[in-house]
Amino acid sequence: MNKLEALLAYQEADMKLLDYENKLKNSPARQKLLQVKNYLLEQQDKWKQFETETLERQGKYEQLKQYYDQALSDYKLAEEKYLGITSESKEDIDAIKKQYENVQNTLAKLRRELVKIIKDMGDSEQMVVKMHNSVNSAKQEFTELKEEHQKELDASKDEIEKTKKKVLSAGKKVDKELLELYNKLRQNKPNPVALVVDDKCGGCNMELPYLTRSKIKENSDIIIECENCGRILYYKN
Ligand SMILES: [Zn+2]
Repeated sequence: MNKLEALLAYQEADMKLLDYENKLKNSPARQKLLQVKNYLLEQQDKWKQFETETLERQGKYEQLKQYYDQALSDYKLAEEKYLGITSESKEDIDAIKKQYENVQNTLAKLRRELVKIIKDMGDSEQMVVKMHNSVNSAKQEFTELKEEHQKELDASKDEIEKTKKKVLSAGKKVDKELLELYNKLRQNKPNPVALVVDDKCGGCNMELPYLTRSKIKENSDIIIECENCGRILYYKN
């Protein structure tokens, strides 16, 4: 086995391992698991926002309640004064009436605001229950999917280990420098060794210059990289 044949055997084992790993990574259970996980993280953010809003609303409610209570006692005073009118002058009666009406209007306005905020608080209470239920069932689903995916991982563990060992032993037969080059290329390409097919690089399909082709054909152990994609070219006789 020459240098390139050893490297090609290494690549075959390496790609097999990659296939296994990708299959597990892309399994429906794992994909769904990621979806549910993202949903739960989203809900966490929503929850934080919701808590802030709730606190703001609570503060607003307390302030409004204070204003309302004040307006209510103002109203009672004005009402007593109004009902107690006896022999004041017309100007005085008009002023008392006017004040009574004003206090009444203020009180009505505050009551409407208070009713609205109490309704909002009730709505948000319902929202809490809804969110809580939805998050709970998502958590349940997450646990189930995690178990399912763990089973997938367990089931393929032996096969993955076996393949990893093959990669390791194939790697031992490869020239050290060549393996380093392979690993460097492998970071961006899953298949750093490309077969020359019809005078083209099997990786990027670029037509190879005549000189490159003849160099590879002449010496099957020479390391030549594709000028276009950088892959290590391999020629099969
Ligand atoms: Zn190429």
